[in-house]
Amino acid sequence: MNCHICDKATESFNHEKTNITYYYCEACEYIFKSPECYQDLSTQKERYNLHENDEEDVGYKAYFQRFLDFILPLLEKPKTALDFGCGRSSLLASLLKKEGIDCDYYDPIYHPDTLNEKKKYELIVSTEVFEHLHQPREVFESLVERLEEGGYLGLQTQFHPNELEAFKKWYYHQDPTHIVFFTAQTFRVLCKEYGIEFMGDNGKNMVLMRKNSHSQ
Ligand SMILES: [Zn+2]
Repeated sequence: MNCHICDKATESFNHEKTNITYYYCEACEYIFKSPECYQDLSTQKERYNLHENDEEDVGYKAYFQRFLDFILPLLEKPKTALDFGCGRSSLLASLLKKEGIDCDYYDPIYHPDTLNEKKKYELIVSTEVFEHLHQPREVFESLVERLEEGGYLGLQTQFHPNELEAFKKWYYHQDPTHIVFFTAQTFRVLCKEYGIEFMGDNGKNMVLMRKNSHSQ
């Protein structure tokens, strides 16, 4: 099977414990589970409903704050933002509002009707979303289209260890709703593909990019 990100040939490997087949692309470091593992939205929702995301939860706030502490110092302050795939909670949007950034939010399961198809944003954030996507390249492209010129895209998803035995022991792919896995390199390749600027990553799970016609 060819890579769903960069279209190069992939190598497959099998996880002995779960018998799930994974595909690995050496060029962009993208890993994806065999597509028969992909679940529809209602199955995913059943699992998400097991998580209690209390907006007042101090831990949850600290978790989003770490993301904002990474991206905000790197931006010229945006006026408008979108939290894409916010889940049940609009907590990250509230935290951005406190920073003086007007933030919309959207989620295909919990807030499916909140997206204005014509609106463009100076900042789009998406945390713990990309590992769930059946078609991450297409979603990436649609988010780039929703950015204003000069707008920023900040993503959070755990980078995989990029080593076979370490990957097999990694906790992150054991969640059945986590089906695709990235490193910073995968996002560098996507940036090149869509002509946007890769601004930086934290080496672990966060990446910031910018739509800038001068960066091509
Ligand atoms: Zn690839």
